[in-house]
Amino acid sequence: MKADPTRQWRLLDLQAIDTRLDQIAHARKTLPQIAQLKDLHTQAELLDSELVRVRTELSDVQREVAKAEADVQLVRDRAARDQARLDSGTGSAKDLQALQHELQSLARRQAELEDVELEVMERAEAVEAEVTRLEGKESELAAKLEEAQAAHDAALADLDAEARRVAAPRADVVAGVGEDLVALYEKVRAASGGLGAAALSHRRCGGCQLELNSVDMSRIKAAPADEVLRCEECRRILVRTAESGL
Ligand SMILES: [Zn+2]
Repeated sequence: MKADPTRQWRLLDLQAIDTRLDQIAHARKTLPQIAQLKDLHTQAELLDSELVRVRTELSDVQREVAKAEADVQLVRDRAARDQARLDSGTGSAKDLQALQHELQSLARRQAELEDVELEVMERAEAVEAEVTRLEGKESELAAKLEEAQAAHDAALADLDAEARRVAAPRADVVAGVGEDLVALYEKVRAASGGLGAAALSHRRCGGCQLELNSVDMSRIKAAPADEVLRCEECRRILVRTAESGL
């Protein structure tokens, strides 16, 4: 293929634009905030299931507290009724004595039940404290997530803005390179990991970085300036510049 040297140099400009656009596309996909967000979401999910577990535990213990309170209240009511009957002084001496006995045993029963109530209430307090602690962690995590999401969006917006800036002159550059050379470039680029054209710089191919041997160098020296050359090693379009070492 023949192409004026200026078209070949424009091809290097096109390659620089495309390389930068590829880098930006890669950076979009590998933003550090992506991994950070993923990690935070995992933490949030774990915390969420932990909260569900502890809140369930709390409602169970609260039910136990209500039951313990009701048990104590039952005995208190019974004792109050007995006491009222005793205070009224009605009934036989035997009845009154029986009431006194019952009041004593009710007092013992009440003390036992109050111990149970206290124990359950202490447990409820501990579980409540755990719920509060986890809820605090939840808000902390939500704030971190919001922050990371904002940083992610800002970084993405920066990259998109840069991509637009870099791509802006691309159409003009493509026009300057010419359809035939661009077509070859795109074909080679697709087959060569994004790098379709490279400068020959100090006897080295800018694509595969291999130094050209003297046979290849003589061939290149002898080639007309408008001939489109390819690297013998990597088949990329090799563009001669002032730094080629020719
Ligand atoms: Zn090469």
